[in-house]
Amino acid sequence: MHNFTFQNPTKLIFGKQSVKKLRKEVAKYGQKVLLVYGGGSIKRNGVYDDVRAQLEGFDIIELAGVAPNPRVETARQGAALCKEHQIDVVLAVGGGSVIDCSKLIAAAAKVEADAWDIVRGNVKVTEALPIGTVLTLAATGSEMNASSVITNGETLQKIDWASKYVFPAFSILDPCYTLSVPRDQTIYGIVDIMSHVFEQYFHDATNTKVTDAMCEGVLRTVIETAPLLLADLENIEYRETILLAGTVALNNSLGMGSVGDWGTHGIEHAVSAVYDIPHGGGLAILFPNWMQHNVRISPKRFAQLAVRVFDVTPEGKTIEEVAQEGIAALRAFWTSIGAPTRLADYGIDASQIDRMVEHALIDGPFGHFARLDSEDVYEILEKSL
Ligand code: NAP
Ligand code: FE
Repeated sequence: MHNFTFQNPTKLIFGKQSVKKLRKEVAKYGQKVLLVYGGGSIKRNGVYDDVRAQLEGFDIIELAGVAPNPRVETARQGAALCKEHQIDVVLAVGGGSVIDCSKLIAAAAKVEADAWDIVRGNVKVTEALPIGTVLTLAATGSEMNASSVITNGETLQKIDWASKYVFPAFSILDPCYTLSVPRDQTIYGIVDIMSHVFEQYFHDATNTKVTDAMCEGVLRTVIETAPLLLADLENIEYRETILLAGTVALNNSLGMGSVGDWGTHGIEHAVSAVYDIPHGGGLAILFPNWMQHNVRISPKRFAQLAVRVFDVTPEGKTIEEVAQEGIAALRAFWTSIGAPTRLADYGIDASQIDRMVEHALIDGPFGHFARLDSEDVYEILEKSL
């Protein structure tokens, strides 16, 4: 393990009817609220009405229409609204896209510079408006972390940035609010959650027994629950399990004492910057190929995953064979739940591969378990076609 400091300031409020705590939480930060949401799912499933009922008497400005793979333009709009109306608190109601966009709004509201300069690290974030979230989709962990992923449609870049100032002050997670998530988004969420664990399981440290076991436990639970949930999308207990798994998978606790790889996320961001595909869909295609490409770095680690998570029996096999069986088991599992397997599933061919490689490498070689250069990214993308 490396030395580390762990601090996660987000107050997590979890469970049925937890929206009833919203009014009290928001009131701690002020009277003027920027209510941020997406394309309208919250109006169809009743979440919007619940939130508005809680906020009766507050001054509310709305910013609707945050797109999946949220755009910097929307964050600029939100920051301008915050300045114009002297907003006290940003309330994100939706999935990871709405929360990520709200994080950039909250930081950009405090500077004169353009929001994209924050994403690119040209402007140092030293403060942000407080953020609250009401989560409606289990996937990103954004409800309890300091990261945000933003797309610039002009430059075709999708970039993640982070600041300790944009940890949500509080997040309200009611599993009932995720009952209406459609099958495809449920699958993408499951893949994203598992991918976050893999990104941290493949890291740069030694002796990480505690976090290894935590990662393996989350993965086993998701693998056990996912097929049950997909056969019964309105089962509240399965929804609850996946919802908490999503938060734990990326609230930094699994990464204590190590630096996770995050290379596959880097490649996926390049793919969805160019093609605007769902994040979880991209990861389902890329991750097994990233594993295949990098298994030689530590067959032992891949074999541990295979045995402990995918129940591969090691007897009479080499470590390399066990590792390969684990990767095959992951492919089989994601295929069994209906995740995409090839970029061709999204109509993506080799024509833009150089562009995606260039975007992935914008800040040079990346990945902390496996350092990837342009040749590596090219090969992984080519295998994913
Ligand atoms: P999302 O993009 O927020 O939402 C996907 C779709 O699901 C939207 O069309 C949304 O509709 C719909 N939806 C959300 N909740 C729903 C509900 N309860 N019922 C019905 N439909 C619902 O999905 P996400 O996977 O949570 O976020 C993806 C983004 O987060 C990507 O940009 C990804 O790169 C990023 N990400 C961030 C982190 C992080 O740590 N910050 C980590 C991984 C990925 P509406 O728009 O109508 O609401
Ligand atoms: Fe992700």
